[in-house]
Amino acid sequence: MRAVLLGPPGAGKGTQAARLSVRLGVPAISTGDIFRVNVKGGTALGLTAREFMDAGHLVPDEVTNAMVRDRLAQDDAAEGFLLDGYPRNPEQAVELDSMLAELGSGLDVAIEITANFDVVTDRLLKRAQVEGRADDTEPVIRKRLDVYANSTAPLTAFYAGRGLLVQVDGLGGIDEVTDRLVAAVAA
Ligand code: ADP
Repeated sequence: MRAVLLGPPGAGKGTQAARLSVRLGVPAISTGDIFRVNVKGGTALGLTAREFMDAGHLVPDEVTNAMVRDRLAQDDAAEGFLLDGYPRNPEQAVELDSMLAELGSGLDVAIEITANFDVVTDRLLKRAQVEGRADDTEPVIRKRLDVYANSTAPLTAFYAGRGLLVQVDGLGGIDEVTDRLVAAVAA
């Protein structure tokens, strides 16, 4: 199963990707997590990514695409993967297609977790109090939602046009949403 997970910040992509990865037996690959590990470790990649992340902007495509290309070439992704947080704009989506074509494969499904912006803003502000992520402040949350609406949301039409899109309501309990996702992917 080769899948991408779409949905606004705070829709629960990270939580659900971890669960779905267990159910599907494929690795969950989160570009945001990879960037955060690099920021923490003070790597060159982390130093580049940090300023963009802290402002709620996308990290430049050439940086992100190269990172994903390396990750997808690893053995554990050969039989499938669940991408969380990539692609995030049409250019990345085109790049992903060509990476997969080079590997002799293609996407099976694009799953959109839907949630309205008021709900996700509340969730992110609450998460800020627990986790203290640098980009969970109100102005940066607003910026991330803007970026989602302008750059990432158009991907749903892109994948729908290819018959790959499934939409899952992200409101409700964590288990409930996982069950919906499993059912949607199986269908
Ligand atoms: P969220 O979905 O809650 O905004 P993520 O952990 O997915 O959180 O992403 C955090 C930040 O990491 C993004 O705001 C962006 O700066 C960077 N990032 C993650 N994925 C990408 C990507 N595909 N392209 C560019 N930047 C990315």
